[in-house]
Amino acid sequence: MSEYRIYLSPPAQNGSEAAALLQTLESNWLAPVGPALQRFEEDLKHIQGDKEILALNSGTSAIHLALKLAGVGAGDEVLVASLTHNATINPIIYQGATPVFVDSEINSWNISPAFLKEAIENRVAKQKRVKAILIVHLYGMPANMNAIVKIAQEYGIPVIEDAAEALGSSYNNVPLGSIGEYGILSFNGNKIVTTSGGGALILQSNEEREHALYLATQARDQAPHFQHSEIGYNYRLSNVLAALGSAQLQNLNEKVTKRRDVFNQYLEAFSKLNNKFNTEIVTTSIERNSDFSNRWLSTFLVHPYNEITAETWRLALLKAGIEARPLWKPMHLQPVFQSFPFYGNKTSNQIFANGICLPSGTNLTSKEVSEITEIISSLYT
Ligand SMILES: *Cc1c(COP(=O)(O)O)cnc(C)c1O
Repeated sequence: MSEYRIYLSPPAQNGSEAAALLQTLESNWLAPVGPALQRFEEDLKHIQGDKEILALNSGTSAIHLALKLAGVGAGDEVLVASLTHNATINPIIYQGATPVFVDSEINSWNISPAFLKEAIENRVAKQKRVKAILIVHLYGMPANMNAIVKIAQEYGIPVIEDAAEALGSSYNNVPLGSIGEYGILSFNGNKIVTTSGGGALILQSNEEREHALYLATQARDQAPHFQHSEIGYNYRLSNVLAALGSAQLQNLNEKVTKRRDVFNQYLEAFSKLNNKFNTEIVTTSIERNSDFSNRWLSTFLVHPYNEITAETWRLALLKAGIEARPLWKPMHLQPVFQSFPFYGNKTSNQIFANGICLPSGTNLTSKEVSEITEIISSLYT
């Protein structure tokens, strides 16, 4: 853990966390449910455009419950972005369903509407039961929601938004996670806001929230004794961690501004590099007019030049004690998921092959970013 001087995306405190936690401890609300949990959900509701919120113990559990609510069960299929974290996929398997992987579009790196359409037509023609479209807003960048929603409506299939990395991002001014039938957020340790571990499910109605709450708390029937008619889960976020979450949310806007500033500083340095060699050595994902990305991680594509690749960058930074990482490896390339269908032209293979995540922490200084861009630029001279 101590091998790096500069980490990729370490947790950042704003100074209000310790007091919030202490207050919760002193109130003795150590029980899983309590006033801090309710407040955290209200805070999130406010951020997410007044949608219903259920705070959970992870983003993965939120995806699992969204799939349950969407009616995904054994033998069903879920169309899902291939370029993502495996936590997007695992709950599909928990439900006994089949993931059908869809390739990326090159601009946003997110699910390609063209290949999504091709996949739906093909699966439906094969009489497969496609029950949900699970899209991801990777690294905070909005997916092409207008096109996706249009296709989903044409076939009457619900959209689930994995906005685990996209708190603070928006599409046409609508917060990501609040556009589809269901959305999910993650508050894992490396995300822009953390509860050290946690997540949330975003829902359209109170009725659905009540149903999700019932499933998340062991599916207990209305009775003085413990009676169960269904299989439930223990997925609720603890009241103590919720207090940490509300404290972390206090400066969400500043956090987003900071991450975007870091990204823009990198972008400026790499534009200079491109200009100097008069070729596109470095490119990145691009915001459309509709898009506002939190730039959770600053991610770039390093097009091989004089045998310098993304891996050359990573090793040079590692030598200086700086953590950089490849992008998520597409799910259709993962040994565990290789038997599942894939629709696309391998754009995501290319993105993965050339991609890199650079340090993007909220507390990263512009001096540190300069140090990183200088190490990289010096590789080319
Ligand atoms: C972090 C992440 C998740 C999972 O969230 P957890 O809270 O770690 O369970 C899901 N999808 C994506 C894209 C993520 O980055």
